[in-house]
Amino acid sequence: MSALPTKLEPLAIHGGTPVREKLLPYGRQSLDGGDIEAVVDVLKSDWLTTGPKVAEFEEAFAAWVEAKFAVSFSSGTAALHGAVFAAGLGPGDEAITTPLTFCATANCVLYQGATAVFADVCEDTLNVDPREVSRKVSSRTKAIIAVDYAGHPAALAELRQIAKKQSAFLIEDACHALGAEYGGKRVGSLADMTVFSFHPVKHLTTGEGGMVATNDARLAATLRRFRNHGISNEARERQESGQWFYEMVMLGFNYRLTDIACALGISQLGKLEANLARRREIAADYAGEFRDLPVLVPSVRQGVVPAWHLYPIRLNLEALSAGRGEIFRALHAENIGVNVHYIPVHRHPYYRERFPLNDGAFPIAEKAYEQLISLPMFHSMTAKDVEDVVRAVRKVLTHYAGKGGRTSTLASKRP
Ligand SMILES: *Cc1c(COP(=O)(O)O)cnc(C)c1O
Repeated sequence: MSALPTKLEPLAIHGGTPVREKLLPYGRQSLDGGDIEAVVDVLKSDWLTTGPKVAEFEEAFAAWVEAKFAVSFSSGTAALHGAVFAAGLGPGDEAITTPLTFCATANCVLYQGATAVFADVCEDTLNVDPREVSRKVSSRTKAIIAVDYAGHPAALAELRQIAKKQSAFLIEDACHALGAEYGGKRVGSLADMTVFSFHPVKHLTTGEGGMVATNDARLAATLRRFRNHGISNEARERQESGQWFYEMVMLGFNYRLTDIACALGISQLGKLEANLARRREIAADYAGEFRDLPVLVPSVRQGVVPAWHLYPIRLNLEALSAGRGEIFRALHAENIGVNVHYIPVHRHPYYRERFPLNDGAFPIAEKAYEQLISLPMFHSMTAKDVEDVVRAVRKVLTHYAGKGGRTSTLASKRP
């Protein structure tokens, strides 16, 4: 990535030539012939759902994340619902979580009739701040739901302490963090339950899909029943034992993942290491290229190896002549498919109407939201794709940094 343009070119948003001809998305899946073959094989088999591929995927996944059990779900959201159910949350109970996440993290608490209590985030990682969590703990706190924002694990050791003192469950929403490491261990067994998503923008995809990993056999059994209507055994076990009898012992849902999806998951799992390695390379390239620009790149804490689901940069708006909205549109015009993660959950109309007291209560999350832009980050990005992103970010920020691109003097004003 040498020979970057130094003179100011007209921005595409102002009628100039875009950096790329075709839009580069912020995230996308990588599928190969092996993935397709694995799915086709299941289509020709006896079981399309709840057959042998489910257990095979769950066992392989559990081994990969170094957990004793893994229970698959039809989505990451269903998996979160399962975790909150297994933690025993109901009306009158509270779960403390971060406002800077996808709304599903908080919604799953509401599904159970419990209350989501937000706590502000840390300035460096944008993960929930354990000190803020401590301030929000009450006798009603039954769970802490930490999110590993962008793929950087939350402060799990501190959060585990708080949860333990309160006899609450620590649920880790690791939908961004498959393959991340914390204190030398992969996420998967560091919380009571660790939740993953297999949506196509995530590290591993099954189309839709999710998983809960746990070391607790009782939680795993509850999760298995919950995803199958609350029924005490599965159709395949009944067929194999020649029994018709089953009992529904709790009110569950149909949150099962199909054999078709699990076959894809098994095949994708084999490529996860390469996927993570590529994401880490891209993150290192970005961090090296943006040093002199008025942006803050993600920081990494000691003892952490992030999984880089996202690469969110924060704009130093004081050093720029345009706001995030215009810079976002300018990058899109260059055909760089940037995104914003996230509109803080409490600012969505549904939450505003029900929890009006939350307005303005999370200054770090709210300030970050005004500055955040997620750059493209996915396994199959080529060196040319990365170079295009770097060129576009440089072109747009240099333009808005003022006349003549005074970026080197502005770098000292980074937030
Ligand atoms: C993707 C995601 C989810 C939801 O997962 P789905 O599989 O789309 O239901 C939940 N939480 C976070 C943080 C996510 O990124």
